[in-house]
Amino acid sequence: MLEIYPKKTQRKRGKQLLVNETPATPAEIGANSRTVPGIVTQRGCSYAGCKGVVIGPIYDILHITHGPIGCGFYSWLSRRNKTRIRKPGETDYLQYSMSTDMQENHIVFGGEKLLKQAIQEAYDEFKPKAISVYATCPVGLIGDDIHTVCRQMKEELGINVFGFSCEGYKGVSQSAGHHIANNGVFKHMIGLDDTPIEAKYKINILGEYNIGGDAWEIERIFALCGIDIIGTLSGGVSYDDICNCHMADLNVVMCHRSINYMAEMMETKFGIPWFKVNFIGLEGTKKSLRKIAQYFGDKELIDRVEEVIAAEMMEVRPVLDDVRKRTTGKKAALFVGGSRAHHYQDLFEDMHMKVFAAGYEFAHRDDYEGRDVLPNIKIDADTRNIEEIHVEADPERYNLRQTQDRKKSLEESGFNFSDYEGMMRQMKKDTLVIDDISHHELEQLIEMYHPDVIGSGIKDKYVIEKMGVPCKQLHSYDYGGPYAGFKGAINFYKEIDRMTSTKVWQLARAPWHVADDAAAPEAATASATA
Ligand code: SF4
Repeated sequence: MLEIYPKKTQRKRGKQLLVNETPATPAEIGANSRTVPGIVTQRGCSYAGCKGVVIGPIYDILHITHGPIGCGFYSWLSRRNKTRIRKPGETDYLQYSMSTDMQENHIVFGGEKLLKQAIQEAYDEFKPKAISVYATCPVGLIGDDIHTVCRQMKEELGINVFGFSCEGYKGVSQSAGHHIANNGVFKHMIGLDDTPIEAKYKINILGEYNIGGDAWEIERIFALCGIDIIGTLSGGVSYDDICNCHMADLNVVMCHRSINYMAEMMETKFGIPWFKVNFIGLEGTKKSLRKIAQYFGDKELIDRVEEVIAAEMMEVRPVLDDVRKRTTGKKAALFVGGSRAHHYQDLFEDMHMKVFAAGYEFAHRDDYEGRDVLPNIKIDADTRNIEEIHVEADPERYNLRQTQDRKKSLEESGFNFSDYEGMMRQMKKDTLVIDDISHHELEQLIEMYHPDVIGSGIKDKYVIEKMGVPCKQLHSYDYGGPYAGFKGAINFYKEIDRMTSTKVWQLARAPWHVADDAAAPEAATASATA
């Protein structure tokens, strides 16, 4: 797979590609390092991670991209974060893509005046509660001080205006943008509203972006159980929800990579414990619900969760039994995100399919090997480039949600707070783990292993399909979803069943096969009619 590369590239890529020989004690993998120039990566930029992933889905903030129009256009609704207004009087601005549309003269003479003008214009038109500003590559290169402009406009307009130095080149991937976004949301929004919330079981879901309606399915299940979601960071969530979400009693983390910083900072400042959950796949969903019930420790909730699981499984079971007749033994590979390549393995396992290879686009070693490797991860210059904010316990608002004794007894019963075991521990022995897979490696993998389906992102989707393999696009789900929870699982089973049962992919002939077809027409016909 690596033969085509120069020696130096082979050495580097060799560290990011391994066979998972000892899943219980995962081997060290190279991750979160710069992509070799010239290799076609699937990664996104820091701006994409900040605006596109973490903050962009907050529906009643006006998000202004400071930069050339391409960056704003690129991040315009491309993630399919679904939204509905949660309270009367709120406005959903997500359908707009606002940009300062920098031109050459702004690059030469500076863009601060332009930004100020854009904030004023956006305010005059919409009167939002908050405006956020995102720096793109050229803005960082010319040195516009977006933070001073934001501070001035905050004073002038009397609303919350804040900026993110998330220039695309910061860090090695969108992961840097996630960290910058976490810091900004924590500094400028979390804890602004201390209004008490009357509810018995109050939780936040961190790292759930409501792609294709996933958060709504989780919300539906929680409502059946009697659990209240205070804030979902940040799918389908409002500015007010985020300002008030420190009033919750628990943070559960879906996407560890994009939001673990927030979970840590909220625990330090407000005393809210966190643990990892996964609502993708039946086992993950059941386990996560039970874990939440166990955390609150209330028998009424524990029983209710079991009733909900039993009722939902009545609907799921017949679909799964039927689908398994066709999916059992089929092969899948997953190359997506910083958590999805892990989470979606559960859904394929539900269908008795084999995930023979998986990898993330922008994860760090802890997402592969588990958080116990955190002390051993070398901090390089790219990581040092991202601000680490110092957080202390709030003297008035820090409040332990569980007594130390109760927390200790939960831990003794096998409960893991502030932890993530990583993807490799769950993967089968001798499966392949590939970080930041390139287009060339993907093509090689398809030729060698002939997968029945690949779950991947937008950029590699058509590379895969041109090779006659169906691609389940798990970045924004194309037009599908939700795939979370019980109803989402049913959607996923049916789609994968359709994709892997149809013969249409065998008819796909990539342009580079045409010459071969002409040379050996019998082989081409046989392949198309197989
Ligand atoms: S890499 Fe830079 S120019 Fe490209 S989309 Fe990201 S911020 Fe914009």
